[in-house]
Amino acid sequence: MSALIKPHDPDCIFCKIVAKQIPSRAVYEDEELYAFHDINPWAPVHFLLIPKMHIPSMAQIGTEHAGLLGRMMALIPELALQQGCNPYPDGGYRLLSNTGREGGQEVQHLHFHVMGGPRPWLRG
Ligand code: AMP
Ligand code: ZN
Repeated sequence: MSALIKPHDPDCIFCKIVAKQIPSRAVYEDEELYAFHDINPWAPVHFLLIPKMHIPSMAQIGTEHAGLLGRMMALIPELALQQGCNPYPDGGYRLLSNTGREGGQEVQHLHFHVMGGPRPWLRG
């Protein structure tokens, strides 16, 4: 397990969101996962799904995280429809996880963007 993974990083903005030290608009919450609306949406529906534990990015993920990642992936279709993404195949959504500097990652806490809704979108 990467030494960069910890239960909570006091300097991480998404850890502060999980701890409710910074406000967010919740989409979903359970013991290990949190989803909330992106503050700067690109699309009519744009939310982020994160593990509550501080995992910096997909680069730290290994087979020991298969259960956690599986639960995240399995939740997304349900949340996307709840939040207003239209049904597949005419609707759908984009699922994105920027990883590292060259991957365009700005917040160093693993997150999946879920973007959808009627086009045009601001980006993408
Ligand atoms: P990236 O790390 O490039 O995948 O993007 C980080 C995303 O986090 C961006 O889409 C930001 O708009 C979003 N973001 C940053 N701070 C907040 C916040 N306080 N609440 C909600 N979303 C945020
Ligand atoms: Zn964090």
